[in-house]
Amino acid sequence: MTEKLELFDVTIIGGGPAGLYAAFYSGMREMKTKIVDAQSELGGTMLFFLDKMVWDVGGIPPITGRELTDQLVRQAGTFEPTVALSQEIEGLERLDDGTFMLTSTAGDRHWTKTVIMAIGYGGLRKVRKLEIEEAKGYENSNLYYTVENLEDFRGKRVVISGGGDSAVDWANELEPIAASVTVVHRTDKFKGLERNISRMKASSDVLTHYQVEMLHSEDGKSIDKITICHVESGQREQLELDALIVSHGATYEYGRLRDWGLGIGKDNLAVTDKMESQVPGIFAAGDFVSYGVKVMLITGAFNDAVLAVNSAKQYIEPKAAKMARISTENVRFDELNKQFVKN
Ligand SMILES: Cc1cc2nc3c(=O)[nH]c(=O)nc-3n(C[C@H](O)[C@H](O)[C@H](O)COP(=O)(O)OP(=O)(O)OC[C@H]3O[C@@H](n4cnc5c(N)ncnc54)[C@H](O)[C@@H]3O)c2cc1C
Repeated sequence: MTEKLELFDVTIIGGGPAGLYAAFYSGMREMKTKIVDAQSELGGTMLFFLDKMVWDVGGIPPITGRELTDQLVRQAGTFEPTVALSQEIEGLERLDDGTFMLTSTAGDRHWTKTVIMAIGYGGLRKVRKLEIEEAKGYENSNLYYTVENLEDFRGKRVVISGGGDSAVDWANELEPIAASVTVVHRTDKFKGLERNISRMKASSDVLTHYQVEMLHSEDGKSIDKITICHVESGQREQLELDALIVSHGATYEYGRLRDWGLGIGKDNLAVTDKMESQVPGIFAAGDFVSYGVKVMLITGAFNDAVLAVNSAKQYIEPKAAKMARISTENVRFDELNKQFVKN
C-alpha cells in the first residue's frame, strides 16, 4: 500500500496561522509539502473570529479575521503544497526507513519524511460550559459559547461571563453594535492586551467578583434574566438580557496524539529552541508549543513556523543552510516576480 502513496518531505498538521506560514516557508526551502487539517477549510482558530478586527500583526494595518485568513491561505499556496482537508490525524507509525506514516480518523494515510505539528490547542478542544443544569436547553436560542457572527447581537443587551482574551475581545467588538454590553467576571484580573482591557473597562459595564448563578426564562425557550452572585459577600443581583455569552475557556484533549511519545504536557508541548519534540523528525509550532518566551499570538506562530521548517529541512539534509535566503535572493521568486509585474 505504501508504494501507492506519495512521499512528502514535510507534512504539516494544522492549517491555522502556524501551519499556513510553515507551508509557505517550506516552499521557499524547496521542500515537497503537504498540509492537512481536521476542519473542512483552512484558517484554524481564525475561522472563529472572521468578523473581528486584528490589529497586531506586523506590517498589516487593521484587518478582519476573514481577510487575514484569505491572505494567509493565498500566501500558503505560493509553492502549491498539497492540501488535505477533513483529515483529523490520530495515528503515527515510524517505518523501517525512518519515514513516518500518519493516519486520519477517516482511515486515510499520509507518508512523510518529517512532520510539523501546528495543531493549536488540538482537534479535541472542549469548551468549558456553564455549570448550571438547565443551561443546555438554551444553547440553541440565546446562550452562546462563541461569537461567530457579530450581527447576531445587533441592538441586543448582551452579558458576557468570563475574563479571558476572548471575553475581552468580544466585549470590545460588540460594544458598538449591541444595545449594551455587561461583563461579569469572578475576579478583577482580566487576560488580554492592556489596551483592550482598558477599552473594555471604559466602554462596557464590568462587574467583577460576580458569577452567573441562575438563568430565568418566561417562555422556557430563551433566557431573559440571570441572577449573579458576589463570590465573597454572596450578594445577589438580577440582570435582564437578550443574549448571554459564556467564555470560560476550554480544556484540551489530545486523544491518541498523546501516545506518539512527543512529550505533550497538560496543555501543550514543550519544545527546544529549534521547535523539536521528543521524537526526532517531528517538530511543532504555534499555540501547541511552549518554551520560555513563547508568544501565544499569530506573530509568535509565524516565527515558530520558520524555525520548525528550518529544523525539518536540516533533519532531511543535515548540510542544508540554517535558513532560507531572503526572498529577493531566492530563485524561486524570479518567475513569480515576472508574473507579478506582468499582472
Ligand atoms: C477569539 C480569539 C481572538 C484572537 N485574536 C487574536 C488577535 O487579534 N491577534 C493575534 O495575534 N492572535 C489572536 N488570537 C490567537 C490566535 O488565533 C492564535 O494564536 C493562532 O490562531 C494560533 O495559530 P496556530 O496555527 O498555532 O493554531 P490554530 O489557529 O488553533 O490552528 C490549529 C489547526 O490545527 C487543526 N488540528 C488540530 N488537531 C488536529 C489533528 N489531530 N489533525 C488535523 N488537524 C488538526 C485544527 O483543526 C486547526 O485548524 C485570538 C484567538 C481567539 C480564540
